[in-house]
Amino acid sequence: MKPRITVELASRVKNLPPYLFATIDKMKQEAKAKGTDLIDLSIGDPDIPTPAHIVNAMKAAVEKPEHHRYPSYEGMLSFRTAVADWYKRRFAVDLAPGTEVLSLIGSKEGIGHIPLAFIEPGDVVLVPSPGYPVYPVGTLFAGGESYIMPLWEKNGFLPDLKSIPWDTLKRTRLIYINYPNNPTSACAPRSFYEEVIELAATYNIIVCHDAAYSEIYYDNEKPLSFLELDGAREVGIEMHSLSKTYNMTGWRIGFAVGNQDVIAGLGKIKSNLDSGVFQAIQEASITALETDDMVLADIRNTYQERRDVLYNGLKGLGMHVVKPKATFYLWTKVPEGFDSASFVAHLLNKAGILGTPGNGFGAPGEGYIRFALTVPVDRMKEAVERIGKAL
Ligand SMILES: *Cc1c(COP(=O)(O)O)cnc(C)c1O
Repeated sequence: MKPRITVELASRVKNLPPYLFATIDKMKQEAKAKGTDLIDLSIGDPDIPTPAHIVNAMKAAVEKPEHHRYPSYEGMLSFRTAVADWYKRRFAVDLAPGTEVLSLIGSKEGIGHIPLAFIEPGDVVLVPSPGYPVYPVGTLFAGGESYIMPLWEKNGFLPDLKSIPWDTLKRTRLIYINYPNNPTSACAPRSFYEEVIELAATYNIIVCHDAAYSEIYYDNEKPLSFLELDGAREVGIEMHSLSKTYNMTGWRIGFAVGNQDVIAGLGKIKSNLDSGVFQAIQEASITALETDDMVLADIRNTYQERRDVLYNGLKGLGMHVVKPKATFYLWTKVPEGFDSASFVAHLLNKAGILGTPGNGFGAPGEGYIRFALTVPVDRMKEAVERIGKAL
C-alpha cells in the first residue's frame, strides 16, 4: 500500500451553499433515461447559433499567427476601442478605451473576481436575492460577508436600499445590482440608479452593475446603462457580456467599463490570475460589436414571439406570471399547494417540462419557478399545452 494523503477541502469551498441544481440535474437524467420527451426550460443559454458573420470573422482571425501568442492582459486596444464605440452608439456615453475599458473572460469572471480586489475579510457586500449565484460566492471567496437584499415583486423586484441598517452600510465596500434582472426579468428605472449612486457616494461603496441582458429587451424599450447617469462613473463600473447579445456563451468574452480606479484594481487581480482573452476571439468580437441592428432585432423578435406564447399561455391557465420587459426568462409564481421544488418535480414527472426552482437563486425566490425562453416557438406551444394538463 502506498501512503495516501487525506484530501481536505478549504473552508471557503466547504462553506459553499448547497448546489440546488445538482438535484435537478439528476432528475433530468432520470427523466431522459425513462425516455421522456423533455422540454428543457431550465437553461439560460441561447439555443440560437452565433450569427454567421461573427463565426466567419473568427475563422479568418484564427489563421493569423500573431493571435496565437499571449494576449495583453487588459485586452487589445482595438477591442477596447470597439467597446467604446459601441457604448457611444448605444448609450451616448464616452469611454476612454485605455483606462475605462477592460476585457473579461466572460462577465462571470469579472463578477467573481472583483471582490478579491477590494474586499477585506469582514467587509460587507450587498447582494440581490434572488440573483446570480456568483455575487455571494465571489464575496465568500474574498472573505467578505454578503448582506442579502431581497427583491420582492411588490417593490418591482428592486431592493429596498432604505431598509439597510446604517451600521451595515458603514462596513459595506461593494454593491452588486443587475438590471435587466436574472431571474425576475425586471428592469430598473432611472430613479433607482440615482438612489444607488447617492448611497454609494455617501458610504463610499463601489457599484458593480451587471448588465449582461442590456440588449435582450422587448417592445423596443431599451434598458438604460448605469453609466448614462450623472455621477455613475465616479462610483462604479458596469459589466457587459457578448454571451447573451450575440449568442456567444461558449466563446467566453465580456468587458467591464467605468470608473478607472475600479477597472485598474480588477485588472490587477486578473493580470495575476489569467492571461487575457484569445486575440482571435477579441478580433471576432469587434465584428460582433459592429453587428447591424437588424440582426439583433431578429434575435429579439424570436424571443419576443416565444415570450408572448408562454406568457399568454400561462396567464390563460390562471398562473401568476411576471411579463418580462427584458431578458429571456419568465418568473412565475407556483400554484397553491406547491413550493418551488415540488412544482419543478411535478412538472417534470407529469409534463416532461423542466423549469428552475426560484429558491435556487436565493431564499426570497421561494414560491417561484423560472422558465427560460430558449426553445423554439412550437415547443413553447406544446409546453403550454402540457402544463395545462399537469395543473
Ligand atoms: C449569463 C449571465 C452572466 C454572464 O455570462 P458570461 O457568459 O460569463 O458573460 C452574468 N450575469 C448574469 C445575471 C447572467 O445571467
